[in-house]
Amino acid sequence: MTNQLTFLAVHAHPDDEASSTGGVFRLFANQGVRTVLVTCTNGEHGDTMEGLKPDHDSHDGDDVAAMRAVELDAAVAVLGIDRLIRLGYRDSGMKGWPQNDDPRSFWSTPIAVAAERLRAIMAEERPQVVMTYNEVGFYGHPDHIQAHRVTMAAVALLDYEPTVYFNTIPDSVMAIYRERWEQEERERIERDAANGIVSELVEETPSDGEEIKMGTPDAEIDAAIDVHGVASAKYDALAAHHSQIADSFWMKMGREQFIEVMRTEWFVRATNPRGLVGCVDDLFAGYR
Ligand SMILES: [Zn+2]
Repeated sequence: MTNQLTFLAVHAHPDDEASSTGGVFRLFANQGVRTVLVTCTNGEHGDTMEGLKPDHDSHDGDDVAAMRAVELDAAVAVLGIDRLIRLGYRDSGMKGWPQNDDPRSFWSTPIAVAAERLRAIMAEERPQVVMTYNEVGFYGHPDHIQAHRVTMAAVALLDYEPTVYFNTIPDSVMAIYRERWEQEERERIERDAANGIVSELVEETPSDGEEIKMGTPDAEIDAAIDVHGVASAKYDALAAHHSQIADSFWMKMGREQFIEVMRTEWFVRATNPRGLVGCVDDLFAGYR
């Protein structure tokens, strides 16, 4: 088929597709753009349905992965995604965890090996627009960093250059989120204190002192996509990942406030074969 527009996003875990691209996925599906989701890991180190963390004795990574696979299928249906490809790597856990070194983990997989698999998918789909994370994986998670590296390596192997976007959040919006998280943290400490529990503020800076700067200066945003009209579907896609995000601030907002607040998804351009200038309102700018 000629002129078929195709969007391909490479995400690290089940639920990332909903949180960072749920709006554009649903928007493109509504527009007749073909949408392809590549999810790199099975998310073994997520929470169990009962909220148990991966360091708990009763936490079974394979059970968590099986549950998250079902949740991902539900989110994919909500977002109208045409094709889901699971690369099936094992969740690498957070930076410094021993699971980083599991030979089955995404982090331990040679970039060239995973990139060749992704290249074959891209060669078949020929997406004009590819989305993944920046070189720090937006917030430093090893699987997100690896998704970046593998995607850039795969793109370099193609016989054409797609427009690659990284998801981001403008600094001005990050400041609002941070304020909200700090408020929630203060409330938690007050609640604990009322129950006789002495707790401390959770340090945001990792112990190795490497601070990751999340977000992008507002003036450097290359694409701001209005997803207000599909925000309800984005909410449903997030809600489909119940085991991971039932306690998240998105769900606490409730649908009405979520739709009101989550109006935009932001991106920066990593490649620019169409010579776009400035901030566009469509990831397919230059192709339509
Ligand atoms: Zn993730």
